[in-house]
Amino acid sequence: MQVYPAHEAVVGRFTVRRALPQRTRRTVGAWCFADHLGPADVTEESGLDIGPHPHCGLQTVTWLLDGRVLHRDSLGSEQVIAPGQLNLMTAGHGVAHSEEATGRYRGRLEGIQLWIAQPERTRHGQPAFEHHAALPQAEITGAGTATVLVGSFADVRSPARHDTDLVGVDLDLHGRASLALRPDFEHALVVLRGAVAVAGQVLRPGHLLQVDPGADELDLRVTEPARVMLLGGVPFDEQIRMSWNFVARTPAEIDAAYASWTAADGRFGTVDSPLAIVPAPARVRTARAPN
Ligand code: MN
Repeated sequence: MQVYPAHEAVVGRFTVRRALPQRTRRTVGAWCFADHLGPADVTEESGLDIGPHPHCGLQTVTWLLDGRVLHRDSLGSEQVIAPGQLNLMTAGHGVAHSEEATGRYRGRLEGIQLWIAQPERTRHGQPAFEHHAALPQAEITGAGTATVLVGSFADVRSPARHDTDLVGVDLDLHGRASLALRPDFEHALVVLRGAVAVAGQVLRPGHLLQVDPGADELDLRVTEPARVMLLGGVPFDEQIRMSWNFVARTPAEIDAAYASWTAADGRFGTVDSPLAIVPAPARVRTARAPN
């Protein structure tokens, strides 16, 4: 097990805690990106305010603890998401989307934005969008509730699409918990609220705990009522390359994705959004904040 600190970045108008990727830990299963957004205050007209931008080779997972966000994409989807609901967008060879104020909601906004790298088998495929208005839950005896976003946990299975063998769970915990893990998975915990202790180490928001394959159980002691994301999967055996909002395999593929977005050649489609399009950043050798 190893604890990594999240680093702060700016996405839209929000400061985020980025738990993945880490310099020495790029993926956990196929999970390749984790941004904890907020909490921050939004208004009817001013929210995340991330204008249309492109993705390829990944799925975006949007999960809120508080607030509302309006998702629009180049497939024509227009979907408000609320806490307990899942937005899952599959980019495949290319999609664009925006994340906007709803025109109605005013108050706190907090959530996590995750990316899942698509395997070779599906990453060149068609884009898709799923909204799940409710997800299955499992009781963790004496400890709280697990909501299964993707994959299976405690004999409960999410209906969400997944292209590799993985799991994503939101744990709402108030007691001592013993989590059953699949030993062929590697796992990570990302604490969103409160605090938990694992093997004597206290984890708070801004920490990622990575657990190697081989463990079939993880014991947590809740020191403050907590919301914790459990992410896991079979180690992703394809060497990915991430740049801006793209996941690919080669520099040439990344170059082509930047060029297509800049040229607006139709690969990523268009989003019917009142927000300004996010231009591709200048290509420099430092990592860029994705949207
Ligand atoms: Mn995005």
